[in-house]
Amino acid sequence: MHEISATVEEYDVIILGAGINGCGTFRDLCAQGVRCLMIERDDYCAGASAASSRLMHGGLKYLETGEFRLVRESLYERNMLLTTAAHLVLPLECLVPVRSHFGGVIGSVARFLRIKATIRDRGTLITKLGLALYDLYGRKLRRMPAHRMLSRRGIDREMPQLGPDIIAVGVYFEGQITHAERLGLELALDGEALNPSSRSVTHAEILGCDGGVLRWRDRDGEHLSRAKVIINAGGAWIDAVNHRLGIETRLMGGSRGSHLVIDHPELFAELDGCMVYFGTADGRVNLIYPFADKILVGSTDIAQDDPDLAECSETEETYLREAVREVFPNLIVKPSHVMYRFCGVRPLPRADGTEDIGLVTRDHSIARLNLPNSSTPVLCLIGGKWTTFRAFSAQATDEALKFLGQSRRISTAGMAIGGARDFPLSEAGRAELTQELAQRFGLPKQRIEALIARYGSRVREYLDHLSGPETPLADCPEYSVEEIAHICRTERVQTVDDVLRRRTLISLRGMSTDEVRQAVSAILDRIMQDGHKRAVFNG
Ligand SMILES: Cc1cc2nc3c(=O)[nH]c(=O)nc-3n(C[C@H](O)[C@H](O)[C@H](O)COP(=O)(O)OP(=O)(O)OC[C@H]3O[C@@H](n4cnc5c(N)ncnc54)[C@H](O)[C@@H]3O)c2cc1C
Repeated sequence: MHEISATVEEYDVIILGAGINGCGTFRDLCAQGVRCLMIERDDYCAGASAASSRLMHGGLKYLETGEFRLVRESLYERNMLLTTAAHLVLPLECLVPVRSHFGGVIGSVARFLRIKATIRDRGTLITKLGLALYDLYGRKLRRMPAHRMLSRRGIDREMPQLGPDIIAVGVYFEGQITHAERLGLELALDGEALNPSSRSVTHAEILGCDGGVLRWRDRDGEHLSRAKVIINAGGAWIDAVNHRLGIETRLMGGSRGSHLVIDHPELFAELDGCMVYFGTADGRVNLIYPFADKILVGSTDIAQDDPDLAECSETEETYLREAVREVFPNLIVKPSHVMYRFCGVRPLPRADGTEDIGLVTRDHSIARLNLPNSSTPVLCLIGGKWTTFRAFSAQATDEALKFLGQSRRISTAGMAIGGARDFPLSEAGRAELTQELAQRFGLPKQRIEALIARYGSRVREYLDHLSGPETPLADCPEYSVEEIAHICRTERVQTVDDVLRRRTLISLRGMSTDEVRQAVSAILDRIMQDGHKRAVFNG
């Protein structure tokens, strides 16, 4: 048994893993006055939460598998996020191509009954039915138009490069997360602001757990912490995290999903701001949509045992490039168009013997365990989409509150996140804010617009600290040296990748050259040295 020599820090709840579900639960618990510690081995939203299709969506395809509860919840959450995260979640017009009138009816019935079926074509009837149900389930808090169908004549007008075999498209709306990782970070920062006795730590390692005491390490050294409730929010790593706690489980069965970021100006112009959500010949559903000035193409769905070994293979890259050709036969995506590729593992519940991973539920659930030889509960958060993080976090919080003998003080429904607080919802309001800040801080309007799109109302924190003109970052002038320094100083950055991959979209947009990496590294080193000097000076 490990000898406990240092002081044991006491918490109400310890959360392991700071993906979107960990961050959401952290904020919710903090809002209830619960003292929490969240420990992450990498960075905020560095796991599956960094690898999603970046949609706040109802999950049109889940209607086929009869997951109506999940679709209804997702649509409600999606609609809410357009307000509570208005700076980072924007409406996205989506097109579903249709190649026949009655295609997919039998396949859809089979999938509804959870029988493996390959649907190569979802016809007008199925598409219209699905979109009508979507409208019905998405009524609460609706902020976007209902669906419509567009004939081939309409397609020739609006997206003429769509293949000639496409006879119609269903048009509807989803939400797009412009910067997912920042939303996770903002939840963690909000949590700490709501309850200053809570804290979240990243780049930390769980070393073990003895007698209900968790031993872990970060760059400041080793720590001992104990809580009345442990929440395992390790996503696809839930079993590995349990192992560190001394519990052997086989709860998870992940599915790898890869995306490409491509630079294809002709396709970008053709999409004109819309997503195409389409079935491919292999029966999968894929998507293409403009992401900043690039295009996101995704995603694969392949069983993956060890999430640490997941990477986007050459075969997947070829598959995704070829998939585009199925809807845009004349817009070829070549390897040279691919700027970046990323991959993550969906934290799905283990479903041994399932032939089709696409049939495994995408809903969320909580498994209740105990620490070995202890009555301390361990709540494992299984599944859960980005879109449903708030609802899942509320469920986890309510469960933890039961163990703590407390009741909920406040609901997170409608609670604005980070830069969405005091953020104008209308375009006119945003234009006014841009104008006001441009005048007050003497910066060009386009620059203020870019900053508002990144930070929402928190842009003021940056601008207030700006003491002079900005210096463009070498090789990446969309960001400034001052902005990167502000991020390093105020956003819990520990590594260059935290900045390039998660605080900014530099990597995702394929702009992470050696020069940019070096420039960011130099800024981070300077900030860290300053911080170290300050810590030494303050004793
Ligand atoms: C390809 C793909 C596309 C998707 N598209 C969408 C979409 O468009 N919309 C949507 O709503 N959802 C989507 N999802 C689903 C969604 O991204 C995930 O379900 C969600 O991000 C899971 O969040 P999580 O917090 O549970 O897991 P994760 O984000 O994986 O978080 C788990 C965290 O635990 C940490 N961890 C692991 N081991 C340890 C340890 N020993 N100690 C401490 N921490 C540890 C990890 O580093 C990680 O940060 C997609 C998923 C994938 C993979």
